[in-house]
This record gives sequence, C-alpha cells and structure tokens, in this order.
Amino acid sequence: MYRLTEYDYYKPRSLEEALKLLDKLGDARVLAGGTDLILDMKTGRYKPRSVVDIGGLKELRYIIDTGEALRIGALTTIQELVDSPIVRSKTPLLWEAATRFAYWQIRNMATIGGNLCNASPAADMAPPLLVYDAVVKAASLSGERYIPIGDFFLGPRLVSLGRSELLVEVIVPYKSLEKYGSAYAKIGRRRGHDISVVAAATAIRVEDGLIADARVALNSIAPIPVRARSVEKYLVGRRPCIEVFREASKLVSSDVSPITDVRAPAEYRLHVAMVLVEDLLLESYKRAFRGGQE
Ligand SMILES: Cc1cc2nc3c(=O)[nH]c(=O)nc-3n(C[C@H](O)[C@H](O)[C@H](O)COP(=O)(O)OP(=O)(O)OC[C@H]3O[C@@H](n4cnc5c(N)ncnc54)[C@H](O)[C@@H]3O)c2cc1C
Repeated sequence: MYRLTEYDYYKPRSLEEALKLLDKLGDARVLAGGTDLILDMKTGRYKPRSVVDIGGLKELRYIIDTGEALRIGALTTIQELVDSPIVRSKTPLLWEAATRFAYWQIRNMATIGGNLCNASPAADMAPPLLVYDAVVKAASLSGERYIPIGDFFLGPRLVSLGRSELLVEVIVPYKSLEKYGSAYAKIGRRRGHDISVVAAATAIRVEDGLIADARVALNSIAPIPVRARSVEKYLVGRRPCIEVFREASKLVSSDVSPITDVRAPAEYRLHVAMVLVEDLLLESYKRAFRGGQE
C-alpha cells in the first residue's frame, strides 16, 4: 500500500529563507509541483526527514526574453511554457515538448526545474534544452553557479546539485540557433498523456550546400537524456540528403543504451529512435530553408 512516512514540512516565504533552510536541515527534499516527489515518497523511494516546499516562491516563476536567451524561472510550470507566445516563437522545440507533456492537470503543477532535477531518463524538457545548449543556474548560501545542461544529469535521479543547492533558473540561448531548422517528436504508447518511449529534438544549419552544424538529443534510451554525438559528427561537412540522414541515424546505436521496461523493449526503442532521428533530420533540413520551425 502506498503511504507517506512522517516528515517535517517547511514553507519558506523567500528564496533566501529556502536556502537557509536547506543549509540547516541536511536531509531535506525540495518540493516544487510535487508530481514526482509525492509519488516517490509514497512508494518509499525517498524518505526525507524534512520537506521544503518552494512552490509558493513567485520570484522563481518567470519567463524573460533578454534578446539573446530566454531566462526561465525554475518554478515556471509546463503549462506556462505552453501558454507563452515568447517560448513558442523563440524556443519552438521547448514549446513543442511542453505541449506533448502529460495533460493539463499535470502541466499546471509540474515545473521545468522539477522535471530537470528529477533526472528521469524520460524527462521531456531535456532533449530541447540539450539541443539549445541551455545552462542552469544553481543557488546556495555560498553563492550562484552556472552548469551546462550537458553536465547536469549524472545518472537516473542524480544531478550535479549539492544537498543545499536549488536550481533557480534555466537559460536557453536561442539566438545562436536562429539560422537552424529544427524539429521535435515524442513517441509514447498513446498520443500525449504518457511518458516517452522515445523523444528526440534535432537542429541543422546548412552553409554553402553542406551541413555546417547538427544537434541531436534524445530521451528514454540511455540512463540520462543524451546528445547523439556520433550522429552529429557524421553529419557535419556532408551534403544534406535522405541517404546521409539515414546513415547518420544508424549511428544512434553508438550513442545510447536503451533498456527494456514496462513501456517498451530495448530493441523497439532503438529502432524507433533511429526512424525518429532520420525523419526529424529531414524535417529540420526542410525547415532550415523555409526559415525555421513551424
Ligand atoms: C500522470 C503523470 C504524467 C507525467 N507525464 C510526464 C511527461 O509527459 N513528461 C515528463 O517529462 N514527465 C512527466 N511526468 C513527471 C513529472 O510530472 C515531471 O517530471 C515534472 O516536471 C516534475 O516537476 P515537479 O515540479 O512536479 O517536481 P517535484 O515532484 O516537486 O520534484 C521532483 C524532484 O526534483 C527536486 N526538485 C524540484 N524542484 C527543484 C529545484 N528547483 N531545485 C532542486 N531540486 C528540485 C525534488 O526534490 C524532487 O526530487 C508525469 C507525472 C505524472 C504523475
């Protein structure tokens, strides 16, 4: 039977108070939207002595366009990303991933920070953020630091945050991707309402008829969401065409280690990932000529 064990509950009224609490408490879990944490506490995966509920901290809930990047507060909900015209126009991969995330009851509670800190291999915010080369900002009483998203995930449910650190902001530098065509897709057992069997995001820049840069990121087919570096390396310098995209997509197998679980067997995941990457690369290439994502 699912049951919550006893814990001390804290609800700080400011970021500073939250950081002081985390520093003092030691064995504390941060609660944002609670869509992962409460379940993990009920199943006994986590049995924290204290819970620090940061859900009410409005200062961590914003979307700011700096002209070069979007600065997104960690407590911004997935539904707020869906509803944001700025997110839709400046970071279309992130917007599309948000629209394919669960259903609106969950999207209204789930936060972008919680999705990253939970570090599920299936985290849907991860592939777009890996393609954008996003950076996350962490804060503690000792100060702030910036972590490239590629260095943030250390393993399933493990991120490069200290015990008394909070993820406070996600910085998405969209400007550098303006000349790219990009595409996103998620495969689940049903359309929407489901955790990914595989999701992928791709972006391509073509110069003088050759692929000048390619970015490919996937979730659910390795212990952490990953960039498919072998695919990217193969593509650069080649003339874009369907045969090249097909050959490149086969290299997905060098970059991932899919598992069999309740949602899909490993062989299926790998096959779907390769087909998805081939399709998305072709779509990204077409969009590069039509002037971006649609
Ligand atoms: C029915 C259902 C459907 C779902 N569908 C999807 C889906 O389609 N795609 C998907 O990716 N996920 C899905 N999820 C998982 C979940 O909703 C997301 O991972 C969500 O974004 C987690 O955010 P949260 O604010 O609820 O995090 P919480 O549950 O509050 O926290 C998650 C973890 O991150 C830590 N944490 C949270 N915020 C911070 C912070 N700012 N700094 C440091 N640590 C922090 C917590 O301590 C906890 O360990 C689903 C869950 C459910 C229950």
